[in-house]
Order: sequence, then structure tokens, then C-alpha cells
Amino acid sequence: WPHLKRNRVIKVLISLFSLFFPQIQFAEQKQEFNKRPSKIGRRSLSRSISQSSTDSYSSAASYTDSSDDETSPRDKQQKNSKGNGDFCIKNIKQADFGRREIEIAEQEMPALMALRKRAQGEKPLAGAKVVGCTHITAQTAVLMETLSALGAQCRWAACNIYSTQNEVAAALAEGGFSVFAWKGESEDDFWWCIDRCVNVEGWQPNMILDDGGDLTHWIYKKYPNMFKKIKGIVEESVTGVHRLYQLSKAGKLCVPAMNVNDSVTKQKFDNLYCCRESILDGLKRTTDVMFGGKQVVVCGYGEVGKGCCAALKAMGSIVYVTEIDPICALQACMDGFRLVKLNEVIRQVDIVITCTGNKNVVVREYLDRMKNGCIVCNMGHSNTEIDVASLRTPELTWERVRSQVDHVIWPDGKRIVLLAEGRLLNLSCSTVPTFVLSITATTQALALIELYNAPEGRYKQDVYLLPKKMDEYVASLHLPTFDAHLTELTDEQAKYLGLNKNGPFKPNYYRYENISAIHANLFHPNFYIYTNYHLLLYFLFFSLRY
Ligand code: NAD
Repeated sequence: WPHLKRNRVIKVLISLFSLFFPQIQFAEQKQEFNKRPSKIGRRSLSRSISQSSTDSYSSAASYTDSSDDETSPRDKQQKNSKGNGDFCIKNIKQADFGRREIEIAEQEMPALMALRKRAQGEKPLAGAKVVGCTHITAQTAVLMETLSALGAQCRWAACNIYSTQNEVAAALAEGGFSVFAWKGESEDDFWWCIDRCVNVEGWQPNMILDDGGDLTHWIYKKYPNMFKKIKGIVEESVTGVHRLYQLSKAGKLCVPAMNVNDSVTKQKFDNLYCCRESILDGLKRTTDVMFGGKQVVVCGYGEVGKGCCAALKAMGSIVYVTEIDPICALQACMDGFRLVKLNEVIRQVDIVITCTGNKNVVVREYLDRMKNGCIVCNMGHSNTEIDVASLRTPELTWERVRSQVDHVIWPDGKRIVLLAEGRLLNLSCSTVPTFVLSITATTQALALIELYNAPEGRYKQDVYLLPKKMDEYVASLHLPTFDAHLTELTDEQAKYLGLNKNGPFKPNYYRYENISAIHANLFHPNFYIYTNYHLLLYFLFFSLRY
């Protein structure tokens, strides 16, 4: 544990220094876990060496003012400067700092800013009452303020107990939004916050914006009558979408729902690029791990897994992949990763990352067999992938070494390093790239506009994908950032391809894959042809049989 040794050395040096220069106060001496000195921006702090090791790399997802007390926000009476108290957050005094964070995010969210400009003339969400449950970050704040500019009223809770940026929640509350969220909620707080969003006198939501399905689930369970007024659900995550399809299959979905996760602009950008850029950040801030030469196993080679693997490979890690789906497994192989079963590598790997959206992928048996110092974390939406509950047994000792970093110690002294208690790493322990989130947030805003304004009968009680033209519109709104120049079809070319010059440019089944063996026969290496011959034979066999 070299970083722990280094921390001790730093602490001794600080004590000696303070002895000789007592007038100089070190931030570290006064800070407790997860606390930071006040009035300094997060960006300047996040890499500051004057911070204690316990907090300098702790979650940059939130800045906590040193004046914060440990009182639960539920026990505090707070009001914003206009006397409005319809919110529950950590500390309203952090609003100015949060406002700066939101302004920084705005610079990287060009499409939402463009929608706001357009909203000066029209208000496509006039009369919409949106209840939302997403990560509460500066980027979400830009989305909420855009929805408000488009005419909507919003009430919001967090979809994750760790990911709320307290200062952003404060800025939103100061701006008049009813926000119920803070970093480090308990499970009970989590549901209480959701309930406070929906269970309010004189206000009933008519649109749901969900990430993970918990809000939708709560309304189904507690207030099913609310669905009489709700015009639609917009769901962002794989997990939530899965729940919606289950409801639909059981005939229990009572309003139309828009599956934003599978819209091209969400899946191919947010899941892939966001994770590719943030996995290293999350691991580095929490553990200071060096990636070169480390053996890493990534469970799940979907979009998130692909992003994680690409980033780790680029840093020189030796990456193994586990998959249940032969197509994704084949993609992993052809991208140069070793496809293994978890039990084959669990003893030797230095880092285990789950990104399956599934449950019990890393169970106690595997945790028992991991080597000393193995880092275990999750990039999937829910904390179901690693069986963390199985580690809460008397023979194991838990030691919190940094914010969001626990050492779980076996009786023989072996430790594993568990990050964010198995909750999604990047949103709990690092920041995520704003530009990618801009793409998702714009997709969400357009999905809300589409469902809210759709004429009666266009959407039934089912799960829908965003129309392709909207996906293309979201992408086009982001192109100017790169000074990208899009080629226009000539009339002759449009006719030749049978397309409208203004799109949509691809059929709905087009998958925008850059790496799919099954559809890559255009490149004609023998392997692809071989694969396709097999497919042809397979279809022939079945069509002859039936
Ligand atoms: P996906 O469906 O594309 O990929 C998941 C993959 O896991 C699939 O290929 C599936 O076959 C595989 N899988 C399922 N069970 C498995 C098991 N037991 N062992 C090995 N592989 C298994 O989904 P995705 O878009 O990659 O998202 C994965 C998860 O990450 C979801 O929960 C999603 O909500 C979440 N997500 C996180 C972020 C983030 O920023 N951390 C961003 C987007 C999505």
C-alpha cells in the first residue's frame, strides 16, 4: 500500500511544519473525510497536493463546504433568497459555486443552448409538469433549465445516492427548482426524495424523465392513479428500459414510453465515449493505480464495456473480457481482447470492472479468490453487479480509506479495494465529459417534446425509439463545435440512393457499428465471408425445415 505509506510521510511532514510555523493552517488538519476547504473551486482542488490523501482524490463529483454540518438535510429548514423552501438539499449557501459549475457546463452543451435560443419564440413544453429522477450534476442542471426555458415546470430527485453535486443542487434550488437530493443519501432518503417530488399538494406530473426506472416504479407502486394524467415516460438507462419492456410485455404499461437509451445518439455516444473517457479518471482518483501492465477483467462487452476496454488497452493494460452473448464475445475477440470466464482469471487480475447491467456477476466466491490488493468496481447502472451484501459478514473487516474507497480485509490479511460500494464508478468518483452528456440531454429534451406534443393516437401504451430524424437532428446540433462541414447530397445522389435530401439518411435497422463481424462483409476479408456463409447455411437450413 505505497500510497498509505506516502500519506503517513506527508502527515509527519505536515506535523513538523506546523510545529515550526504554527500560524500556517493546513487544510488537511481541519478536514474530515469528504470535506474540503471552502471558497476554492473544485477544479483547482482536484489535483491539489495540499489536500490530504483521504480527500484530494475523493469524489470530484461533489464539493462539500467545510461549513457543512453532519445534520441530515431532512432535518434542516432552508429557504432560498426568495423565501421559497420547496426543496431539500445539503446546503443552499453553496449556490454561487454551483452556478459557476453550471455556467462551465453550458459552454460544452451547445445543442441545449441552441434549443433555448429557439425557445424564445416558441414554448413546446408550455404546461408540461416534468418529474425527473436522474444524476444531479451540472449537466443535468443545464437540461432542467433548458426544459424550464421551453415552458416546463420541473421537480427532481437523484437516481443515485452518491452522484449528486451538492453545489449544483443548491444553485438549482436558489433558481426556484424543487430539488430533493444530496450526495450520500441513505436508501431511505433516496425513496423519501422521490416521494417528495411526486407527492405534493396542488401539483401533479404529466411527464416522467427517469434514469434507471426507480421513479416510474415508485409511481406505479404508490400512486398508480397519477398515470391518468401522465402523457409519457422518457427513460434513459438500459436498466430502466428493460423494466419498461417487462411492463409492456405484461400488458401493464399504461402510458407511452420513449426508450432514449437505444437511440443512436445516446447509446453510441454516452455509453461508449463517456465510459471510455471516465473509467480511467474514476480509478485514478480513488486508487492512484498505474494502468500499464496491469491485468484487468471487464465483465460485459456492450457499449460501456467497449469504452472501458479501449481506454485500458490504450494505457497498456492487459485486458480480459467476459461475455454471455456470442456476438459481443466475437467483437471482443476481434478487437484483440482475450475472452475468458471470470473464474479462469479471477486469481490473477489486478482490477475487476463490471458493466453488464445484470446482477450477481461478481459473487462472494470470486471475491474470496481475488488476490491481495485487487480493485473491484462497477460501471453498470445499478449496484447489483457485485454482491457487496455478501461481504458484510463478521469475519471480514471494512476499512474506509478514502471517500468511496473501502478496503475489505480477510482474516489472513488479504484486502480487496472496493470502490463506491459497488455503485457506478464514474458518476460516483469522477466527473464525466460534458459534451457527451450534452448529446444525451438533448435527446431527452427532444423525446419529452415529442411525447408531450404528439397527437392522440400516435403513441400507444408501448415502448418507442426516438424517430431517426430526431437522432440526426441531435447530432447535427453538435457538429458546429468541431467546425465540421457536412456534405449535402446532390439531387442526383439523393435520387440514386432513394433518400430525402434532408434525411433520414439511414433505415431504422442500421446499427452504426464500427466493429461487427456479422455486418462487415463489405470489407470482404475471408473471415467475414466465412461467417456470412455460415449464416446463409443456417437460414437455408431453417427455411427448408419449416
Ligand atoms: P449493453 O446491453 O450494450 O451491454 C451489456 C453487456 O453485458 C451485454 O453485451 C451482455 O451480453 C453482457 N452481459 C450480461 N450479463 C453478463 C454476465 N453475467 N457476464 C458477462 N457479460 C454479461 O449495455 P451497456 O450500454 O453497455 O450498459 C451496461 C450498463 O452500464 C447498464 O446498466 C447501463 O445502464 C450502464 N451505463 C453506465 C454508464 C456510465 O456512465 N457508467 C453509461 C451508460 C450506461
